[in-house]
Amino acid sequence: MKIVLLGPPGAGKGTQAKSISNRYSIPHISTGDIFRKNISENTPLGIEAKKYIDNGQLVPDEVTIDMVKDRLQHDDCKNGYLLDGFPRTVHQAEALQEFLQGRGENLDTALLIEVPMDFILERMTGRRVCPSCGASYHVKFNPTKIQGKCDVCGSDVIQRKDDGEETVKERLDVYQRQTQPLIDFYKDKNQLSVVDGTKAINEVFESICSLLGSDN
Ligand code: ADP
Ligand code: AMP
Repeated sequence: MKIVLLGPPGAGKGTQAKSISNRYSIPHISTGDIFRKNISENTPLGIEAKKYIDNGQLVPDEVTIDMVKDRLQHDDCKNGYLLDGFPRTVHQAEALQEFLQGRGENLDTALLIEVPMDFILERMTGRRVCPSCGASYHVKFNPTKIQGKCDVCGSDVIQRKDDGEETVKERLDVYQRQTQPLIDFYKDKNQLSVVDGTKAINEVFESICSLLGSDN
């Protein structure tokens, strides 16, 4: 199964991706996570990406597309994958389509987690993440069991640098200008499916499973 997750930053893509990846045994490929790992390891890719990420801008297409194409050729992608945070521009979506066509493959669906903009600021500014294991929480909607400590590994959770209010506003603006057009891109290809992302985390997951069905 090959799935693209769409939705504004803070819609719940990463949260749902972890459950979908477990349920359907497909790797969760988050371009944001790949960039953050490179930043923490100070690689040339990380140094380049950080300039954009810290300002709420998109990393240039040529860098991002090559990185994803490379990742999709790893062995664990043979039975499918779940893309979270890619594509984010029409150019990226076209590049993904070309990549798939070149291999005689198809996307199963582009799954939009629909959340109105007025929910997003609270979701993003309340997000906390574990820098050690990558688990993600929300101070109000999905709190850690012990305040400030990751449930999985016990490390101190932190706020992502780009989740401060000013950067979030910039990221939402970038989303509306550059990523929202992908909804029509996939609708026109009859590949779009939509779930209501305003519900509780487990309810959103149930809707996604009903849409995707039981196969993998
Ligand atoms: P994205 O990957 O789309 O940017 P996340 O999955 O990181 O979004 O979710 C953003 C924040 O909102 C996180 O703090 C997460 O715990 C919280 N969250 C995710 N889904 C829901 C939901 N259905 N209801 C309330 N909060 C949610
Ligand atoms: P995310 O973790 O998906 O919220 O992404 C965090 C940041 O990484 C974004 O604000 C962008 O700066 C960068 N990023 C992630 N995915 C992409 C992409 N597909 N294209 C360009 N930049 C990206």
